[in-house]
Amino acid sequence: MKNDQVFNIGVKKEVILAGGTINSPQILLLSGIGPKETLSKFNIPLIKDLPGVGKNLMNHVGLSLKFTLSKEPEVPELNWSSAMEYITERRGPLSSTGLSQGVGIINSKITPNSSYPDVQFFFYGYNAACPGTTRSNGNIYRRRRDIIISPIALQPRSQGYLTLKSTNPLDPPLMQPNYFKDEHELNVLIRASKIAYQLANTTLLREKYGIKPSKDWASECGNSMRPTNEFFRCVAQRYTEPENHQVGTCKMGTDSMSVVDPELRVYGITGLRVVDASVIPTLPRSNLQAPVLMIAERGMEFIRAAYAT
Ligand SMILES: Cc1cc2nc3c(=O)[nH]c(=O)nc-3n(C[C@H](O)[C@H](O)[C@H](O)COP(=O)(O)OP(=O)(O)OC[C@H]3O[C@@H](n4cnc5c(N)ncnc54)[C@H](O)[C@@H]3O)c2cc1C
Repeated sequence: MKNDQVFNIGVKKEVILAGGTINSPQILLLSGIGPKETLSKFNIPLIKDLPGVGKNLMNHVGLSLKFTLSKEPEVPELNWSSAMEYITERRGPLSSTGLSQGVGIINSKITPNSSYPDVQFFFYGYNAACPGTTRSNGNIYRRRRDIIISPIALQPRSQGYLTLKSTNPLDPPLMQPNYFKDEHELNVLIRASKIAYQLANTTLLREKYGIKPSKDWASECGNSMRPTNEFFRCVAQRYTEPENHQVGTCKMGTDSMSVVDPELRVYGITGLRVVDASVIPTLPRSNLQAPVLMIAERGMEFIRAAYAT
């Protein structure tokens, strides 16, 4: 569809499906390729029974921990002077994405004998957002500067699924991520949250910036100043931070739940490949842009090789 017009397009060699982890399985399902129970529920004629389409949905997941820097000046970031600084010198708060430029990767040591990192810390704050001022009766109230430390579990064990909501291709599909179905990632995040608190308790952050857990934050979970395991567990469940790193819904492999073979060809269908994050069978311990580019380059090589003669 383009500009509300519908076109029918044929191909001579093959179709490359690259709609991403959410849309590629939706397009396969709408085309009659997927679990036969789902297709019959929506009266879609079955082309190929592939039980793995939409299954194995995984994503990095974590929580947000809020801290206040009590010794930082209460200077609003977005004001006339910061706008002028950016326009004239390309410097200042508007020229950066603040603390999100830094990340930390550690091993929580929750998995025995694993030497691989399983937690990524994201940091937020100092970005050119609104200054957090409110006007009431002509007065301007300013907040202290808050920052967020967000530990994310890089190897969660919970798996969700994606299925159709309707047969209208313009409707979004139904996504059930099942975050924290497996206790493992909660345990990882509790340990990681304690490490984040230790980081906030280092001399520099404490003495120079006056960093403290934000008061009265997440009070329904307990006391943020004296957090327990239960506090962190509750925060993970109430202030869940899912990343944008979904994978797995058209996984590559050789078992019965695999959707594409090791050259990204859809099982049982001639002339159809999936080349996007949906083919990643298990979550990488990283953001996804680089792995997706790698898949695209490999996919291109497979296609080139297939039509080389
Ligand atoms: C907000 C956000 C921030 C992110 N930040 C980072 C980051 O900082 N670093 C990092 O490494 N990764 C990041 N990621 C993850 C990364 O961008 C994705 O994992 C990656 O883009 C996935 O690539 P893909 O090709 O599988 O899918 P996509 O990049 O989503 O590409 C799919 C394309 O298909 C199109 N499409 C879908 N359905 C249809 C249809 N029916 N018809 C026509 N077109 C269709 C979509 O419009 C889209 O252009 C971020 C993701 C998001 C959402």
